[in-house]
Amino acid sequence: MALTLAALPAQAEDSPAPASMHVALMIDDGPGQFTEGFLAVLKEKGVPATFDLIGTNVEKFPSLAAKIAEAGHQICNHSFSHQSPKNLSDAQLEAEILGGAEVIRKATGKLPVLYWPPYLEADPRQIHLLRIHGMKLCQWQGIASGDDWMEQNGAAEIIENVVTRASDGHLILMHEFRKESLDALPVIIDKLKAKGAIFLTYDELQAYRASLFNGK
Ligand SMILES: [Zn+2]
Repeated sequence: MALTLAALPAQAEDSPAPASMHVALMIDDGPGQFTEGFLAVLKEKGVPATFDLIGTNVEKFPSLAAKIAEAGHQICNHSFSHQSPKNLSDAQLEAEILGGAEVIRKATGKLPVLYWPPYLEADPRQIHLLRIHGMKLCQWQGIASGDDWMEQNGAAEIIENVVTRASDGHLILMHEFRKESLDALPVIIDKLKAKGAIFLTYDELQAYRASLFNGK
């Protein structure tokens, strides 16, 4: 008997092409003068991000921290005053962690559980202190950095760095304090979307990474 078309499995034509990569934008060191600009770009492009906020900046601009939270983006505690942990005593390090978390809680109404360490320096005391307080260190392995904090890099270099470095499961590291980073952001999003990128929050990307690891 001849096989009829009706007996064939459903056509795959209508299903979207598989995503080529899942990434999370990590926007560091705000809030500040460009926060509103970052939020506007993310809204226009319809993508979420994770903002790593510094306590002293949140004290200066509490309403900007609140706007980030209201827009549905994820917020991580990036310490109270962004000091290298190696220069801090245990008590000072604890104060940096709790101080940052507390000003974010005051501004947004929500205590951040995740800690994104200044300079991404691994200090085992951080893990211990965070655990005591029911908080967690972010995992920063797998970063595609735009190296946007380097003064010599303009928007074109930042775009090139991110777009050539980003691949599946990457955190994309950007900073809020440079206009060049803000100028680069919409182009980065467009170029990565054109490559099939799906943008997630930090938590969502961690879940995605875990699903890969578990083979789900
Ligand atoms: Zn930082």
